[in-house]
Amino acid sequence: MSTPLPLQDILLLAVRQASRATRFVQAAAGIDGMAKEDRSPVTVADWASQAVVALTLRAHSATHAIPLVGEEDASLLRSAECAPLLERVVDAVSHALSRRVETTECLDAIDAGRAAPCARFLTLDPVDGTKGFLRRQQYALSLALIQDGVVVHGVVGCPNLPEADGNYDHADPIGSIAWASRGSGAWIAQGATDAHAHARRLAIAPWKLGDAVRACESVESAHSKQDLSAELLRDLGAAGTPARLDSQCKYVVVARGGADVYLRLPVKAEYREKIWDHAAGALVASEAGACVTDVDGKPLDFGCGRELLHNRGVIAGHPLMVERLVTAYAARVK
Ligand code: AMP
Ligand code: MG
Repeated sequence: MSTPLPLQDILLLAVRQASRATRFVQAAAGIDGMAKEDRSPVTVADWASQAVVALTLRAHSATHAIPLVGEEDASLLRSAECAPLLERVVDAVSHALSRRVETTECLDAIDAGRAAPCARFLTLDPVDGTKGFLRRQQYALSLALIQDGVVVHGVVGCPNLPEADGNYDHADPIGSIAWASRGSGAWIAQGATDAHAHARRLAIAPWKLGDAVRACESVESAHSKQDLSAELLRDLGAAGTPARLDSQCKYVVVARGGADVYLRLPVKAEYREKIWDHAAGALVASEAGACVTDVDGKPLDFGCGRELLHNRGVIAGHPLMVERLVTAYAARVK
């Protein structure tokens, strides 16, 4: 009998396999999708990715019984109007797993992600930054293990992000994948290969007061107050416009020293961040040496269900800079 894989290796494998499904969908001429009830977009790739992750986890003894809290479910996909989309999902899942997967197996795998948060669970964003995915720019697949409210393992697949610095507006043909385990550092490797051999350890860039600040933020102005981030950066004496890219790729860019800080400043006071939008990325950034807090300087609390109920926004970057930005935010937003 073969030796069971360690849990973190299974999470990496699940994200790598699911990236094969998202790449397959993106390679097609048109990307089919529709709007969910909350009007956010969902595509064939979101469902296929969640199915591939769930099926991969189920196939390994270390992960088959851990509850999965995924962003998607199959309710919309089970409706008659979605039959053509469902066929495309089954094709993408079959391609990723190199075997013919049945329709019901696929739907049930997607719905395996309907678990509720508990003492020890996995959380998944099968395609984070769906708008970036539709634009064929940056998006991420994000999978994390949360235990007693703390993120223990995290994997962020970035199929269009160059492994070293590059142009975020274009899709890199190889992409990258970053991962971290609490206390063991953060790592990155090329996305389109199965080899760990070329993994390199991630570290944030050094920064001191007076240095220029390279920031990054969401492409969507509805997700982060971009005019306010420009003001805060001016308060720090920093010129220049933040780089804009979708998804948790921003955490990875900070972790590898490609930006000094990731700003996510609340636009709507009542909005609460979702755990799957931050768990894996925040661990990768903090294990690379970043300080990850909300806009009030509080650590992110992953122990209160599907949302970060006690946090507003995110500031992630060099600790000295985060401290100053939290102070500048408090001064500007009274
Ligand atoms: P990003 O690509 O960093 O802008 O993040 C994409 C994520 O933003 C999506 O997965 C959504 O869950 C999340 N999102 C949706 N609405 C909002 C909002 N009003 N404020 C902050 N994040 C949001
Ligand atoms: Mg998301």
